[in-house]
Amino acid sequence: MSQLPLLAGATGFEPTPEAAQARLEAVDPAAYARTRNALDGAVTRLSPYLTHGLLDVPQALAAIRTRHHVPVSHKLAFEFGWREFFRHAWRHLGEGVLDDVRPPPWPGRYAQAMPADILEARSGVPAIDHAVRELHATGWLHNHARMWVAAYVVHLRKVHWRAGADWMHAHLLDGDLGANHLSWQWVAATFSAKPYVFDAGNVARYAPREWQCRGTVVDRSYEALDALARGAPDVGPEPLGPRGARPATEPPPVSAEPTADTLAGLRALDEAGWLAQVRAACAAAGETRVRIVHPWSLGEPSEGGPAVRVGLLHAPYHSRFPWSARRWAFVLGAMRRQVAVVHLGDAHRALGALADAGLEPVVRDALVPGLREAIAASARRGAVVEPVPREWDDPDRFCTSFTRFWNTVSR
Ligand SMILES: Cc1cc2nc3c(=O)[nH]c(=O)nc-3n(C[C@H](O)[C@H](O)[C@H](O)COP(=O)(O)OP(=O)(O)OC[C@H]3O[C@@H](n4cnc5c(N)ncnc54)[C@H](O)[C@@H]3O)c2cc1C
Repeated sequence: MSQLPLLAGATGFEPTPEAAQARLEAVDPAAYARTRNALDGAVTRLSPYLTHGLLDVPQALAAIRTRHHVPVSHKLAFEFGWREFFRHAWRHLGEGVLDDVRPPPWPGRYAQAMPADILEARSGVPAIDHAVRELHATGWLHNHARMWVAAYVVHLRKVHWRAGADWMHAHLLDGDLGANHLSWQWVAATFSAKPYVFDAGNVARYAPREWQCRGTVVDRSYEALDALARGAPDVGPEPLGPRGARPATEPPPVSAEPTADTLAGLRALDEAGWLAQVRAACAAAGETRVRIVHPWSLGEPSEGGPAVRVGLLHAPYHSRFPWSARRWAFVLGAMRRQVAVVHLGDAHRALGALADAGLEPVVRDALVPGLREAIAASARRGAVVEPVPREWDDPDRFCTSFTRFWNTVSR
């Protein structure tokens, strides 16, 4: 199984605006609407660029609309709507996205850690093992594969969704706490009305032959799968066949700090060194404004913005939510095009030090634990905070379901 090729198009996420542009130009909305559920369907693969601010939703839709007719009723607009819904929910729930929004459907005690057989892609359920391999090898997974993995982990293996969500978030290039953790909760039925389950027929319809799950635990009726989700303990990995143990693949390591090779070309400075650099650059440019480039604001700088730009990584977030080397490489690759120096430390302190020095940070808002609060605090001391552009106005009242949100914004 380890020799099988990865899905076409899953690799190759260059961290550049040109690559984002090329993906945009390749978008075919008609093919998207027809084929998006299939693993080899014409999905956009824009998500890493959207998560890290190389693109925003209005820019993406405007670019697509220069070539195609995409009314708000189009499936593609609807899916971008999901992204804005999760941001809306995250804004209202804050770190509540990290806990059960409502009680889970199974009264038992879910495991708090991912089982080794799943992490090593040897559960014996081909769709799951292929998806895990794909995620680890590329940092990206098709939406359907994400749903299958989440459903299997939570409902059949009885692992708490949070353990699965943290693991997937660490490896995804587009890992976003709102979209990821609330999608896991949606599958788990702690942010939806019923457990999402899938059967072998669903895999047969949308995935390549090697992913087929006939004869495994998911080869049963939806009623039976729902009953397992609500009533049975961990079903365990598939029994070993006559060929004995399955080959294991090591999950790639994750880390709270970038490795030396992903940092190459950037100077990582402590707070004092970073501040000294910023002061010197501002003095040389005759500026007091300084653009803060963080992992969620990696787009090209706009005309007329501050000439001085520095990188900032909020260390407490990375300690709580470590990333794979692939994710670090993507983020730092894009950051390297904007800045020469970066500080990995506490954003509260770093932004406060800039204000103490009489400087005025210009920073894009980020729905990221700790960084969000640091940016808000710095706004109170005069920083210019740029909101993340939205396609649809954010409703004031919390819409607890996508349907309610979409009915409100797409009217
Ligand atoms: C368990 C699980 C975890 C997920 N984790 C993340 C995550 O960490 N980050 C993330 O951006 N998306 C996440 N998603 C949503 C979705 O799977 C991805 O946005 C999508 O697969 C990205 O591929 P694409 O760019 O080709 O999407 P396309 O289908 O081409 O859609 C275009 C854009 O619309 C948005 N979008 C599409 N579907 C969704 C959706 N269901 N929810 C939110 N936005 C959507 C994305 O920004 C995407 O780039 C998750 C879904 C599940 C089920």
